[in-house]
Amino acid sequence: MINVESYRTILKELESYNAELIAVSKTKPIEAIQAFYKLGQRHFGENRVQELSQKMTHLPKDIKWHMIGTLQRKKVKQIASFVHLIHSVDTLQLLEEINKQAKKHERTIDCLLQFHIAKESTKQGMQFIEACDLLDNWSQLDLNHVRIVGVMGMATFTNDLMQVRKEFDQLRIYSEQLKNKYFESTDSFREVSMGMSGDYQTALDSGSTMIRIGSSLFGER
Ligand SMILES: *Cc1c(COP(=O)(O)O)cnc(C)c1O
Repeated sequence: MINVESYRTILKELESYNAELIAVSKTKPIEAIQAFYKLGQRHFGENRVQELSQKMTHLPKDIKWHMIGTLQRKKVKQIASFVHLIHSVDTLQLLEEINKQAKKHERTIDCLLQFHIAKESTKQGMQFIEACDLLDNWSQLDLNHVRIVGVMGMATFTNDLMQVRKEFDQLRIYSEQLKNKYFESTDSFREVSMGMSGDYQTALDSGSTMIRIGSSLFGER
């Protein structure tokens, strides 16, 4: 049911990089997640709030759940008590809602700013300038219950690995620029979440710190 061989291959490849594997379990059953859990996997990613909050109730409490999909503001409260990292923050309004819900649970939620780096207009994410606008005003925003720990992006869906490489490099450069401009004094801003089943090797070469792998591990959806 799950692809253990592929899992081991990816872990082996990761040994030469400083990156984490997020197993993307969306649409896949609890049993498949349990099987990877037994192999030692702890980071899992989901892209729907409903599915994520249901699955987590049936699974071990030490799983680190990553929200990787588009997140509607009104749904933040369903995951605020337990989510480990939200990869898909692309507006101030969403960040404010995450902050509000995190505060209710007396916790701080780690977030990534999602950037639009692909050619497809259907893909989500901020422009670099929007992120700068947000971070320029950070001290006035009073967002003490969220912490921005890095960036996330999805490359164009294409066989042209040169194009993909260019987009991943762009995202890493964004992260370096933000680091220098806004996060110089902290070590926590360090994540570059990029790379999926089809392009993770390219992402690792471009400096990914988190690869999000679904179909290679769980089979096609
Ligand atoms: C589904 C998904 C993935 C995993 O994609 P695969 O091609 O199945 O590895 C990664 N990131 C996001 C945001 C996703 O929605």
